[in-house]
Amino acid sequence: PVQKAITMTDHFADLFERAQKTIPGGVNSPVRAFKGVGGTPVFFKRASGSRMYDTEDKAYIDYVLSWGPQILGHGDEKVREAIHAQVDQSLTFGAPCELEIEMAEKVCSLVPSIEKVRMVNSGTEATMSAIRLARGYTGRDILVKFEGNYHGHADSLLVKAGSGMLTLGVPTSPGVPESVAKHTLTLEYNNPEAVRECFKEYGDRIAAVIVEPVAGNMNCILPEPGFLETLRSECTDHGSVLIFDEVMSGFRVALGGAQELFNVTPDLTTLGKVIGGGMPVGAFGGKAEIMDYLAPVGPVYQAGTLAGNPVAMAAGLATLNQIDQPGVYQQLSERAGALTQGLRDRAAKAGIPLTTNGAGSMFGYFFSEDEKVSRFSQVAACDTERFNRFFHGMLDEGVYFAPSSFEAGFLSLAHTEQDIDLTLEAAERVLGRL
Ligand code: PMP
Repeated sequence: PVQKAITMTDHFADLFERAQKTIPGGVNSPVRAFKGVGGTPVFFKRASGSRMYDTEDKAYIDYVLSWGPQILGHGDEKVREAIHAQVDQSLTFGAPCELEIEMAEKVCSLVPSIEKVRMVNSGTEATMSAIRLARGYTGRDILVKFEGNYHGHADSLLVKAGSGMLTLGVPTSPGVPESVAKHTLTLEYNNPEAVRECFKEYGDRIAAVIVEPVAGNMNCILPEPGFLETLRSECTDHGSVLIFDEVMSGFRVALGGAQELFNVTPDLTTLGKVIGGGMPVGAFGGKAEIMDYLAPVGPVYQAGTLAGNPVAMAAGLATLNQIDQPGVYQQLSERAGALTQGLRDRAAKAGIPLTTNGAGSMFGYFFSEDEKVSRFSQVAACDTERFNRFFHGMLDEGVYFAPSSFEAGFLSLAHTEQDIDLTLEAAERVLGRL
């Protein structure tokens, strides 16, 4: 095995070096480059069920699932069949087709706050469009978001808090004009007092509040009781649009998303990942009154050459139809719960402080002394060096966890009890060596 590990690393290093010659940083999305955890990224060539296989055919139990979409596991048969059947009909029309209606009807039936929905090609497009719509609808400019939440890479979202709690934002990336960033306010997640203060000061200028109702981009953080409720009531009182970014949590933490789990109703919802079953899909939807502000009925412009693409709709529908079955979310939650409980037990045995969070089949683990992790500052204070060693130890053992301590993990319906047992046995060995 040692010999094999060395060969594999060389192989990946060769591929990574080659990739960097023609792709910036060798990757098409930054987190794939293993910058935080160090080392060379694994290059994969196929995936099936709960497993991904690298270019040398080594198997990994996958808890990333392409960052969420593969809730059925990789290569689900019905999804593949639906794709193949549609490919034989047409790859794209650029004109209306019935599958788009089926998709819209399915989404509206699964997420009751969504009365009308429009399809796009990524989560970024979904949030970008929802924000433009909210601004067009309210005639206001200010957007409120939360530290540690990620909503894709549109200009107005790559913004951090300015100095002092309630100053307008500054860009976090070159290329984002200050004149754009200044319309974004960034507040602390799970701090309802900050939200109330913000609305006191800027309420009549706030177009929208956008939030991950279960946060998955600062590891996995659950909303504390009262936080989402405060967003709802402040938005209602001030005529601002409440946007739940459920690109990650949608169809994931519950069939109806975080809004079902926590019983708080947003005005608009953004979706992605699971809704495309592995194809590049996003969506945004909500109250008909707001959605009808979109062109061609309303004045707010938004469009897409491949939006509602029939192959993508077929894959998404085949996925949604399978998760809309009795027992699915119970199985997912039970397996995720067994994994997080098992990780805590093994860490305790090894004398290593570790906390976990979970919602449905979304989970996070933290190398932290804190009993409960619910703030971004706590996530940032975790032992990243220990995380990195754990990550690489598990990778060697054939378990693929997210290569960053700021990302949530996911389970699929294809993860068996045996997969969880194998993962925990590996974790015990790795934790014992940390
Ligand atoms: N919103 C959330 C909550 C996300 O997790 C992500 C992606 N991880 C996005 C938006 C952006 O989606 P995409 O990467 O498809 O553009």
